[in-house]
Amino acid sequence: MASLTYTGYERGNNLKQMLQQFYGNAKDLTVDYNGQIRPLFQHGPNLYPLFIGKLSRESSDRFEFSFYVKEKAEETEKLLGSTPITNPENPSSPSLALAYCCLSQYTGQTWPWGALNGIRPGHVVEGLMENYPVDLISSILEDRYFVSEDKAKLAVETGLREKLLLEKIPRQSYGIYIGVPFCPTRCAYCSFTTPEGIGQSSAKGSLFLDQLDREVTDFIHWPDQAVQERLGNLAAVYIGGGTPGDFSEDDFARLVQIIRKLPLGPATELTMEMGRADVFTRKKLQILREAGIHRICINPQSLDDGVLERIGRPTSRAEIIEAYRLSEEEGMEFINLDFILGLPGETENAFIRNIEDAIRLNPESITIHSLALKRGSDRYREFFGQNIKDTNPLEAGDMDDQTLISTMDKAYQSLRHAGYEPYYLYRHRLGLAGLENLSWAKPGQETLYNILMMSDRYPVLSFGTPAISKRVDGGKAKRLANPKSLSLYLRKDQSYWKEKRNFMLLT
Ligand code: SF4
Repeated sequence: MASLTYTGYERGNNLKQMLQQFYGNAKDLTVDYNGQIRPLFQHGPNLYPLFIGKLSRESSDRFEFSFYVKEKAEETEKLLGSTPITNPENPSSPSLALAYCCLSQYTGQTWPWGALNGIRPGHVVEGLMENYPVDLISSILEDRYFVSEDKAKLAVETGLREKLLLEKIPRQSYGIYIGVPFCPTRCAYCSFTTPEGIGQSSAKGSLFLDQLDREVTDFIHWPDQAVQERLGNLAAVYIGGGTPGDFSEDDFARLVQIIRKLPLGPATELTMEMGRADVFTRKKLQILREAGIHRICINPQSLDDGVLERIGRPTSRAEIIEAYRLSEEEGMEFINLDFILGLPGETENAFIRNIEDAIRLNPESITIHSLALKRGSDRYREFFGQNIKDTNPLEAGDMDDQTLISTMDKAYQSLRHAGYEPYYLYRHRLGLAGLENLSWAKPGQETLYNILMMSDRYPVLSFGTPAISKRVDGGKAKRLANPKSLSLYLRKDQSYWKEKRNFMLLT
């Protein structure tokens, strides 16, 4: 275990995330916003090593960030390193780089994305592109942020593609997200969905749809002029969850009718995350086709029956392939397949075989996530049972870090070889082996919603639950979340729709 305290420094959360990368099982992070180190004895001997970040003023215009370690209560703190800070309002980059460097030397561990922890690589690349020639950016990522050479090149390649895609989205545009809280069962690794929605789509589906209908209907009565001025035209809609395909066929038809009420233009991209193969029926796909929705996501996560059973998905490789074939037969023109690297029971060879089998199906897009589990959660313990390691949860799967990294690389080579290009990159701070999530698409088959939503340049209006709306003022994103709880969402009324309208339209 390890702990952290910091003083004179208001962005401790970034430091905490950095420490969690090295000591993922840290259960007791000491965070002190007042610059006081808490009495250590209260936390017991497991507190150590205790890391201390200090931002101090050296003179009127000189600041310094120093990183210390204290290994035992009776020992004094040892300086691991320090760096000057030119902008004390934003000490994050240099202080995170220093913390990474010190922790890496102290533990002997390195991570593929180096100090880019809690920061989206695309944002950093975008910022660097404003000040440096493109051919220098990869080496800046390596030198300044300790990113590995492969990942630095990947970040630049993806960042450039993202930039080109952003140029395709007119400046005065917005996106819509619809969150569906239902899933047939809960998958073992999932910490996302609202528990109230598990196995409840038949019991509560129509109540949810009534409420969603009210929410969408309120929106379509917002004043046109204000919508045009503040939001612009609807560029992309994404229906996610949860498992939107979990509804009965009748309720699914209703969901689609509600979506059709949105101000869709001829160029609006419309993507439905159908979800797991066990919810697919020909009728649901026909409902989509008849409504003009031809873009779907299928989330197999693995094509290995043993792994699917272990993660609690009552579906099989054969059913996944059947769902894919049905979708093709029913005229789906865009299919994304989602996979997760690091699931228990999956070997390197099995994972690569799955990706190659997926490529043979010829989908327009394939996304690979690295497994991310909330450390110490009940779910995590249940998932890994007695094998839970008391070291680092990032090592929780059956493959070690190096194998995970090389497996991801091999999967990427297969995707490149088959003509897919990476375009949408993001990271979860607890991704196994510090790895990323990356979407690959055939040229021209990218999902613009992903780029629009991630960019913080465009507003995103969200309905349902879980769902977070975002407006962008002077380059800064502000967010308003619909209730995460289904029962709370169902209780919202006119006053909440009004609050949301005021938030999005700044009225
Ligand atoms: S289908 Fe997806 S959202 Fe639903 S429980 Fe499984 S992982 Fe979570």
